[in-house]
Amino acid sequence: MSDVAANLAGIRARIAQACARAGRDPATVTLVAVSKVQPLDKLRAALEAGQRAFGENYGQELRDKADALRAERGSLAAPEWHFIGALQTNKVKYVVGRAALVHTVDRASLAAEIDKRAAAQGTVQPVLIEVNVGDEPQKSGVQPHDLAALLDAVRAHRSLELQGLMCIPPATPDPRRYFARLRDLQQAHAAGKQLSMGMSEDFEAAVEEGATIVRVGTAIFGARPA
Ligand SMILES: *Cc1c(COP(=O)(O)O)cnc(C)c1O
Repeated sequence: MSDVAANLAGIRARIAQACARAGRDPATVTLVAVSKVQPLDKLRAALEAGQRAFGENYGQELRDKADALRAERGSLAAPEWHFIGALQTNKVKYVVGRAALVHTVDRASLAAEIDKRAAAQGTVQPVLIEVNVGDEPQKSGVQPHDLAALLDAVRAHRSLELQGLMCIPPATPDPRRYFARLRDLQQAHAAGKQLSMGMSEDFEAAVEEGATIVRVGTAIFGARPA
């Protein structure tokens, strides 16, 4: 077994254990393998190990990897791409039509641009709203007190489908209260069904707090190349 395959098996087992502790069905948690800046060989190894969902942070890199793997597909299943990075308006064109889910809508102007591109392609783009759950200055994500207005803006677009919320909590040894806060905001605003939260260091706590999508990079692929 490759390192990547062994790591994936370990992460899946830990997700299943966290689900058992929380009385949840593991089938309700999607593991997104965060492959940003990792070489294609590592993605191929993950695909061979049955991994389907991949997370990328840069528009052009997502486009290049999606197009490369599509061209060589052969016996491998098609990857499902998740865009999880900060998204500049002028990079939306690389993402719409390739990403199954955009996790990081954090402002009305970005929602409008994604809607425009999706409409032009005759598709509906599933999205999450990224929430700055720690109210941290300089951090991406909409402030919780501005969430209602952004939800209204997203819901007004016909080519966007709001599926839920996403967060990157403040760096702290115990981010659990921030995961709970995202869940509370989702319930208070009836903001879809998906909760994208939890990374290599904290995905088990996120699952226990209701994550339906965890985004794990380093623990699957190893340290990112500099
Ligand atoms: C890089 C990244 C991850 C994965 O982080 P790891 O600590 O490597 O698991 C998850 N989510 C987002 C938004 C990221 O940018």
